[in-house]
Amino acid sequence: MSNNPLIIVGAGHAGVEVSVAAREAGWNGEIVLISEEKHLPYHRPPLSKSYLAGETAVDTVVLKPASIYERAGIRLLLGNRVESIDRAARNVALSGGSELRYERLVLATGGRPRTLPISVLGAGQVRNLHYLRTLDDANRIKSQLIPGRRMVVVGGGYVGLELAALAVKAGLMVTVLEAAERVLARVTAQVVGDFYAKVHRAAGVTIETSQQVEGFELDSSGANIVAVRCSSGDLFPADLVVAGIGLVPNTELASAAGLTVADGVLVDEFARTSDPAIYATGDCTRYFSQLYQRSIRLESVPNALEQARTVAASLCGKQRRYDSVPWFWSDQYDLKLKMVGLSSGYDQVILRGDLSERSFSAFYLRGRRVLAADTVNRAPDFLVAKQLVGAAAEVDPSDLANPAISLRDLLPSPGRPPVQQPSVAR
Ligand SMILES: Cc1cc2nc3c(=O)[nH]c(=O)nc-3n(C[C@H](O)[C@H](O)[C@H](O)COP(=O)(O)OP(=O)(O)OC[C@H]3O[C@@H](n4cnc5c(N)ncnc54)[C@H](O)[C@@H]3O)c2cc1C
Repeated sequence: MSNNPLIIVGAGHAGVEVSVAAREAGWNGEIVLISEEKHLPYHRPPLSKSYLAGETAVDTVVLKPASIYERAGIRLLLGNRVESIDRAARNVALSGGSELRYERLVLATGGRPRTLPISVLGAGQVRNLHYLRTLDDANRIKSQLIPGRRMVVVGGGYVGLELAALAVKAGLMVTVLEAAERVLARVTAQVVGDFYAKVHRAAGVTIETSQQVEGFELDSSGANIVAVRCSSGDLFPADLVVAGIGLVPNTELASAAGLTVADGVLVDEFARTSDPAIYATGDCTRYFSQLYQRSIRLESVPNALEQARTVAASLCGKQRRYDSVPWFWSDQYDLKLKMVGLSSGYDQVILRGDLSERSFSAFYLRGRRVLAADTVNRAPDFLVAKQLVGAAAEVDPSDLANPAISLRDLLPSPGRPPVQQPSVAR
């Protein structure tokens, strides 16, 4: 091994985890962690939850105190953007003009918010239109979250609904505009989406579905939105607008360097890219899921962390396949939602628990196979659901719906394929 460092581009959950896990796994050389952001690396989930709600101070959202990086011998280069990669020379060019050589390179560049099309935005810059990805974004939004103001949230996905929940609680008048026929349409069954819409409406949020944002009305200065115009002809007055309409993976660096990219930097089960000296992890990657037998790109903290540990192992010559069961969480009001698996392709949804008591789980099945589950205020269900999904377990739907049968009893026995018809075995 040469004396060149391990360079990690991006210091979100994935990049930070690679840096410390690589040190723990035995990487002896220098480690340089580069972030274009100026802040000490921080947790993103609180940005649409406790941090924006003012319940969490900024120093409690940092991922690790500065002393941890120092102790682990990780050189943190904040406020530095990697502009390009020269794979032949094995070096990266930084925004300040300097170049750094690498022994191994890790791309943990995450993603950026999908923006409204230019046809909606018009030419100029406005002061009260926001997207939410970074701490700086959250601070800008926070400064405009003033009780009595009208906030329009564009997009009824998880980030949009979390924002709506905290803003209505803070005393704003909130309207969510969703282009689909219901909220959370891309990720949940109708019953779960309808439950969430009902909870939001009861809290005072206006939810408008099938509303495609077409443009903005500006004040006379041209610097502030005063209303959001939809293609239906409806106009929604607004003092601030936040759009949560998805993520674009930051893959340009990889593409320009000639790595294989397809809506994500393509990596194998060891998080290797098409260049053996370069690895990638987190929201910016796409990989083949053995569990679902298709290529996927995930946007979640557990994915970023687990895949980062695989990168660290690979860097140190250890074999650690990455094919974890995808999971994610969302906090809105008193509702702790935890989701596991990918539900697309399901043909029935089985409910356990009680919607009216705000405690239930929805299991997504294809045939008898448990593809995914959404659990609301039911942490014990989540733990078993994770095992059912990870084992591609096959269950009797009526057992799943029966509260008298423990979920644990539906788990396949270790070392044995799932029993499809218990009566046949007798
Ligand atoms: C508001 C919000 C709420 C969320 N809530 C949840 C939740 O409840 N649960 C959950 O599981 N997930 C949640 N997520 C998603 C989760 O935060 C992401 O999946 C996770 O942060 C991905 O980590 P990452 O390290 O891959 O990417 P990122 O966190 O995006 O980090 C990438 C970093 O790389 C930097 N970078 C990019 N290009 C360069 C370059 N060329 N040079 C230098 N630096 C560069 C970026 O500036 C960024 O700091 C939420 C995300 C947001 C925005």
